[in-house]
Amino acid sequence: MKKKHHEVWEKCLEVIKDNIHIQSFKTWFEPIVPIKLENNVLTIQVPSQFFYEWLEEHYIVLLKKTIKKELGPEGRLEYSIIMDNSYSSSGPFAVNYPTSNHKATKNPYVSMPLDLNRGTSKDIPNPFIIPGLKKIKVESQLVESYSFDSFIEGDCNRLARSAGYAVAENPGKTAFNPLLIFSPTGLGKTHLAHAIGLQAKNNFPDKIVLYVQSEQFINQFIESVRNNNQNDFVHFYQMIDVLIIDDIQFLSGKDKTQDVFFHVFNHLHQNSKQLIITCDKPPVELKGMEPRLLSRFKWGLSADLQLPDLETRTLILKRKLYNDGIVIPSEVIDYLAQSISTNVREMEGALISLIAQSSLNKKSITLDLARQMIDKFIKNTTKDISIDFIQKIVCDYFGLPVDQLNTKTRKREIVQARQVAMYFSKKHTKSSLATIGLQCGNKDHATVLHACKTIANLIETDKQFRSNVFEIDKKIIQ
Ligand code: ADP
Ligand code: MG
Repeated sequence: MKKKHHEVWEKCLEVIKDNIHIQSFKTWFEPIVPIKLENNVLTIQVPSQFFYEWLEEHYIVLLKKTIKKELGPEGRLEYSIIMDNSYSSSGPFAVNYPTSNHKATKNPYVSMPLDLNRGTSKDIPNPFIIPGLKKIKVESQLVESYSFDSFIEGDCNRLARSAGYAVAENPGKTAFNPLLIFSPTGLGKTHLAHAIGLQAKNNFPDKIVLYVQSEQFINQFIESVRNNNQNDFVHFYQMIDVLIIDDIQFLSGKDKTQDVFFHVFNHLHQNSKQLIITCDKPPVELKGMEPRLLSRFKWGLSADLQLPDLETRTLILKRKLYNDGIVIPSEVIDYLAQSISTNVREMEGALISLIAQSSLNKKSITLDLARQMIDKFIKNTTKDISIDFIQKIVCDYFGLPVDQLNTKTRKREIVQARQVAMYFSKKHTKSSLATIGLQCGNKDHATVLHACKTIANLIETDKQFRSNVFEIDKKIIQ
């Protein structure tokens, strides 16, 4: 039988679908996941803060009407937002809807506040425990969309992914305990950690799986000290079968929290419970961490996530579009995957902005739109590109030796390669025209300016030339 919240949300969707453009529907409503319906409050999960604001800005009236229609005058909608860690450290949070003022009010996502004192002595006083049930039920805090299924495999993540999978099949029983996953931000640690948790839970419904961000852990601990119930805190964590702690680097310098975590760790490890830890750097580079804790991290497996290659990035984008039911030209997908190579989150952000742009301005998603957007979007994050590097790419492309660019020759092919190198140096570096001229065959700034104009003209008028230049551009920014 269908769950009630699914039923209600589907009815809402029917109404919404009739009232808005199909593309907007696909973009903004299909990705939403209904989570629960309690006391006339329907909670829906949206992929990002941006997404939430977009809904509030553009569809508030429609949403309000639809909810009232389905749930009656008391009906309310609540959002749960999968928060982007790079912009805030507070983790997923819920906002009330309708809100009187427009800004989101941030509450912890967990069903109860982070107050360990709440429970009576019979309850286990912990925020993750849902009261009123005979059997202890812990809110796992897992995000369903972060599954193995949606985690694209590539050379960059094969080890971590397969170790994670093995752990989920056999929590606490493999040599990968703890499993430590590390990488710079935006490469999929949190996603993979959730995937392991979801899979473990799926395989072993009776096991208690908990995903917790380090800040949450720290805050709960501080709170427990304040309330003088540290023991409850420790006991709660010692009860977990699969404990996932995200971004352990935040424990740096927090001696007391490390101390308590050390005890939790030992207890769980001794009892063959699984620990999964993520970190933004390899353990050896973690500063301000107790040596005895660091040495524990080495007991299991440390696996890193590397930068995904072009193919994997393309697959990630395609998968995301597929999930959201959005179709965009493949050249645009390629362009996005080529332009943003260092951070999957940023790549996805660019995609969302692009969809939003097109939806807002009622323009279709084209390569031009993507270019304009990327120009704005990744200005700050592009890698440092040097004139030397550009010259090398250009010469490789035309099959010329680089030193030819600096000769006085008037050979047409060399002149043109030099002009292309100048054009890209102007485009991708902050160098002055004079500097570019100096490095490209010892020319003056007027020559560089002339070259840039010539190339721009050719791009406008010559299709073949345009596609050559585009190819080179791809290689430069890759
Ligand atoms: P981190 O925790 O390392 O900062 P996240 O797990 O938050 O990174 O990943 C950032 C975004 O990139 C998420 O939306 C995630 O779903 C996506 N992502 C990263 N790697 C992959 C992958 N291999 N397949 C699919 N999505 C990915
Ligand atoms: Mg993360």
